[in-house]
Order: sequence, then structure tokens, then C-alpha cells
Amino acid sequence: MKKRTFLKTTGILALGALVAPLASCNEPATTENEQEKNKESENTDITPVSFELPKLEYGFDALAPHIDAQTMEIHHGKHHAGYTKKFNKALEAAKVSGKSLEEILTGLQDNDEDTNLRNNGGGYYNHKLFWSIMGPNAGGQPEGKLAEAINGTFDSYENFATQFKDAAATQFGSGWAWLCVGEDGKLFVTSTPNQDNPLMKGIAEKAGTPIMGLDVWEHAYYLNYQNRRKEYINAFFNVVRWDKVAENMTKVIG
Ligand code: MN
Repeated sequence: MKKRTFLKTTGILALGALVAPLASCNEPATTENEQEKNKESENTDITPVSFELPKLEYGFDALAPHIDAQTMEIHHGKHHAGYTKKFNKALEAAKVSGKSLEEILTGLQDNDEDTNLRNNGGGYYNHKLFWSIMGPNAGGQPEGKLAEAINGTFDSYENFATQFKDAAATQFGSGWAWLCVGEDGKLFVTSTPNQDNPLMKGIAEKAGTPIMGLDVWEHAYYLNYQNRRKEYINAFFNVVRWDKVAENMTKVIG
């Protein structure tokens, strides 16, 4: 017996001697072999899919004054962290395995069974995209292929921006505005309620891959803007990283 095993065993025995008289109705102790077996079956039953809260690539105060530090801290550290935790629980409960985030969301159905995965998986994905397309010293206008695609679809950047801002302003209650690549490879603007998104084929009005998203839940702006959603929407355009949006587009249509 190795020294460490010996110490561990004697430790357990000593603890057992203390506990045993107090707990005489305990189930018989499992043998080491049985414990190993249990471990193995746990490993195959528990979903191997688990998602982590992504780290912000900038400080909480980096987007100020457009988005204030306190909002960023609560939004990332409480809201997004909450979705992440609940999404992982929902995946475990639904025994989802071997699927990418996109595959999970694309396959969701509009039924009670998928509600937890839909709300929390959407919340996880949407915020992850949101943080990644914002940054300090950003804003301005798109360039290159993205600018061409926007001009091709919306005639001009101004028309696109107006359509996107309208989608964000008119989304009733909580939700998101999106710029997406459709299944036809063309750009489109849309909005979705709650934590839905256009990846959810069986759920969203129009299916596509989001390349830019704006959170218009009140938690995203209320501390700084109160009920002035339009001001927040305009401010968002000062922190958009068009290089990231372009990158997202390239991933879909090359
Ligand atoms: Mn949010």
C-alpha cells in the first residue's frame, strides 16, 4: 500500500469510527470497485456539453459614456452569468451531447419541452455575440465586403442604419434587433422577442445567422437611459466594431 493510500484509508476508517455509532441505519458502504463503476456511469450520463461565461475583451467602463460601467458589470456578471448557469443545467436535464451551440439552437422547437433551452441557450448565445461586436474606439461605418453587402441590400448605410434602429425601437417589450445573413446568403434586418434569435429555425419569423445584435431588454440600458430606448440605440452605433461584424459575415458567406 502506498503511503498516500494508506493515510487516506486510515483517515476514512478513523472518520468511520467516529460516525458509525451515530449513524447505525446507514446503507452498507460501497466497495471501491462499486464506487469506480458509479463514477464511470456518471461520466457517460452527464452531458459533456458545458458552456462558459465568455470573458469581456475590454473593461466594464470601456464603452462609457455610451454604455455605462455599472450596466456592463451587472449585465455581464449577473444576467449573462445567470443564463450560462441555467443553460448548462437545461442541457444536463435534456441530456444534450455532442452538439455545437449553433446546432442546439437551430434544432429547437416551439414547445414547452424546449423552453428552458430556448430561453437560456438564446440568452447565452445572444450576449456572447453582443459583447464581441462592441468595443472602445469603435463606431464609424463598415468598410470593404461588409459595406458592399450592406449597400447591395439596403442601397446605403443610412438606410440600413434606419432599418436596424427601427427594428430595435419597435420590438415590443424585451428582445433583440439583428443583422443577419439569410439562408439565401443575403443580409436582412429583423427583431425577435425575449431571448429568441434567428438561428432558431422553428421559432424565429425569419431564419438566418446573426452577425450583429442589439439587446433592447430594459436591463441593457435602464440605469443610464431609463425609458429612452432610442437614445441607447443611437449610442450603440458609437461602440459597434464593424471589423467583427464583417468577420462574422465572412464566416457564413466567405
Ligand atoms: Mn441582456
